[in-house]
Amino acid sequence: MATAGQVIKCKAAVAWEAGKPLSMEEVDVAPPQAMEVRIKILFTSLCHTDVYFWEAKGQTPVFPRIFGHEAGGIVESVGEGVTDVAPGDHVLPVFTGECKECAHCKSAESNMCDLLRINTDRGVMIGDGKSRFSINGKPIYHFVGTSTFSEYTVMHVGCVAKINPEAPLDKVCVLSCGISTGLGASINVAKPPKGSTVAIFGLGAVGLAAAEGARIAGASRIIGIDLNANRFEEARKFGCTEFVNPKDHNKPVQEVLAEMTNGGVDRSVECTGNINAMIQAFECVHDGWGVAVLVGVPHKDAEFKTHPMNFLNERTLKGTFFGNFKPRTDLPNVVELYMKKELELEKFITHTVPFAEINKAFDLMAKGEGIRCIIRMEN
Ligand code: NAD
Ligand code: ZN
Repeated sequence: MATAGQVIKCKAAVAWEAGKPLSMEEVDVAPPQAMEVRIKILFTSLCHTDVYFWEAKGQTPVFPRIFGHEAGGIVESVGEGVTDVAPGDHVLPVFTGECKECAHCKSAESNMCDLLRINTDRGVMIGDGKSRFSINGKPIYHFVGTSTFSEYTVMHVGCVAKINPEAPLDKVCVLSCGISTGLGASINVAKPPKGSTVAIFGLGAVGLAAAEGARIAGASRIIGIDLNANRFEEARKFGCTEFVNPKDHNKPVQEVLAEMTNGGVDRSVECTGNINAMIQAFECVHDGWGVAVLVGVPHKDAEFKTHPMNFLNERTLKGTFFGNFKPRTDLPNVVELYMKKELELEKFITHTVPFAEINKAFDLMAKGEGIRCIIRMEN
């Protein structure tokens, strides 16, 4: 492309300060260096993780910064040494990477790449420790290596998944974080057998995707647990067959679930980030075979307490990161699940706004309205 090797001037939504509305600015985006890719972002969406770090309550404040990590785009140009993707390829940026060379990448069981594992405090490229974004020569920092709230961004090639060019980017962009995480937590980690009963704690985007995963895996009873009853109607569309609001009962939710299921659920997936829900999710699985999977990100001081007898009675506790998907190897296949109509994405997308109105997406999330809001970079 004509812009290869040159600085691109484009619009980006810059967070100058914690918790202040993003401001639309013209930024300079430097060309990609060795093992980097410059991407034209077409669609992006807002995820809770952007909001946590934008609010920067209990997180390291790194400002000015360009947030955004769920997106879809097209490769504009590539740096030296990049052979896996070429200009024109359709890609999904991912906040965690796959270098394909470290022990984790070589293990069939792990997706925790040593080189490109998520680092929320780093605001620069790993190659040279510099930012590729600037305004009047002053750096604007990156976020989790993606920074998709910009018309163009630069990423390490190891965090870029090349996908089927036929896939509609305005839909599959939601696969680049939360939806894949919940889906993978069910199909890759909890692995509910056909006909089994699964409990999903927390019915936000991640939990609804976990319910969808349980449905795809063939679970016959999917029990949604949430403190917010407004979530229940929505959750039916994602395969939830029953609901429990812990507030409606005066005994622990583990006991409620045990009574409903003749001793406990076969699998549970926790998608709240709340430590009590994590303990409940473990204690509600059936002895002998039950498996609980933790997905939510807990408070930094949280401690998990349960009686060791719960383990001796043959219950298993697991945790997962990005649903155990390897971004480059596995994400293209998740896109194919959508293309084959085995996975529905439309129902996750409840709102769309043009890029100029990106702050509306933050307002919707603050009000707890909808599931995913797509931000269109071009009107
Ligand atoms: P969300 O806030 O949209 O949904 C969370 C839901 O949990 C809400 O509906 C809330 O009412 C419910 N909830 C809270 N406390 C509860 C409790 N004690 N019992 C029952 N329900 C409760 O969040 P989300 O975007 O769906 O994300 C869910 C979690 O997953 C977050 O902690 C997020 O940080 C985490 N996450 C983890 C990964 C990973 O790779 N492990 C990736 C993305 C997100
Ligand atoms: Zn690796």
